[in-house]
Amino acid sequence: MIKTTAKGTKIFTVSSSAAPEIRAVAELIRAGELVAFPTETVYGLGAHALRADAVAKIFAAKERPADNPLIIHIYDLRQLKTLAADIPEEAWQLAHHFWPGPLTLILRKKAQVPDLVTGGLDSVAIRMPNHTLALALLQQADVPVAAPSANLSGRPSPTTADHVLTDLDGRIAAVLDGGPCSVGVESTVLDIRQGEPKILRPGGVTPEEISAVLRRPCSLVHWLPQSEDAPPSPGLKYLHYAPRAPLYLLTGAPERQIKKMQELLQNFQAEGKRVGLLVSQESAGKFSGAEIIVLGSRRRPDQLAAGLFAALRSFDEKQVDVILAEGYSKKGVGLAVMNRLQKAAGPRVINVGGDE
Ligand code: AMP
Ligand code: MG
Repeated sequence: MIKTTAKGTKIFTVSSSAAPEIRAVAELIRAGELVAFPTETVYGLGAHALRADAVAKIFAAKERPADNPLIIHIYDLRQLKTLAADIPEEAWQLAHHFWPGPLTLILRKKAQVPDLVTGGLDSVAIRMPNHTLALALLQQADVPVAAPSANLSGRPSPTTADHVLTDLDGRIAAVLDGGPCSVGVESTVLDIRQGEPKILRPGGVTPEEISAVLRRPCSLVHWLPQSEDAPPSPGLKYLHYAPRAPLYLLTGAPERQIKKMQELLQNFQAEGKRVGLLVSQESAGKFSGAEIIVLGSRRRPDQLAAGLFAALRSFDEKQVDVILAEGYSKKGVGLAVMNRLQKAAGPRVINVGGDE
């Protein structure tokens, strides 16, 4: 089914990778146009990765800083060698194990990749998404596709076609609507070029899973915005995932978090503010009188991840003045969930002591 919005963006709604509409979307990519498409992590904003003119449109539509590089999406391992040089054995190992899947590998870039894609870096980020529609689209386009998340720069990533249109309607040629994304947080970005493998951004694949495959440690890079060194990944220096209202993130023992949250809720309400609460199903019953969004069980980080960005966006719609978010354990995908919440909160993190 095809519809066109008042602002001129086409919506192709498909439910199977055999849908004939995918061909039309693939043709738009080949023609240098921008199309948003679903992946297992979030919706991506795709363009022909080897055409600088097409890639430039991504930065313009998203208002993305030019030094924040893009991830190139492929559907076949054979494409890897055409984009990257000096591919270490461990990269092949990880690609065989995790692809298609939410792992992005940082490798040395080949000359044919435009500098615009890599923000001028000599490295390139590549992954194969685990989504039948994305793979069908990439196969039919049959070119590498640069695709950052399909949101305006700084906003929460989109996990539905509606989220994409909220940010980019009229700025992109089309969106392929394949329903909500299953993982809900972006891919893990891993630098595997030399030394110990370093996670530049936690995501759908956990450090524990990477270590188990490589049989050696793999840790998260720590970099603070006040550091004088260049960030290991340019994305680290930008504001991210921000809902419109200020978000306060609590961390520490769950019971203490709940007490603190109740206290903050009362204080904000006394000031006449509309408060949004982002909590687990275990804590939800402890609150009333606020806009409450329940993400899932505290013990199921996959549930927390799947609903996180949609929740942040729905607080925008509910027009709350302030958001209070519960913090979770950093085990498994919880690491990525807490990374996104921390970025959304910026300096507004309140540690109440004890372990999550
Ligand atoms: P997005 O596609 O919006 O999920 O963002 C892509 C992320 O990957 C950003 O945080 C980038 O900074 C990071 N990234 C992309 N290419 C590179 C690279 N060559 N080196 C380090 N980080 C990268
Ligand atoms: Mg993004």
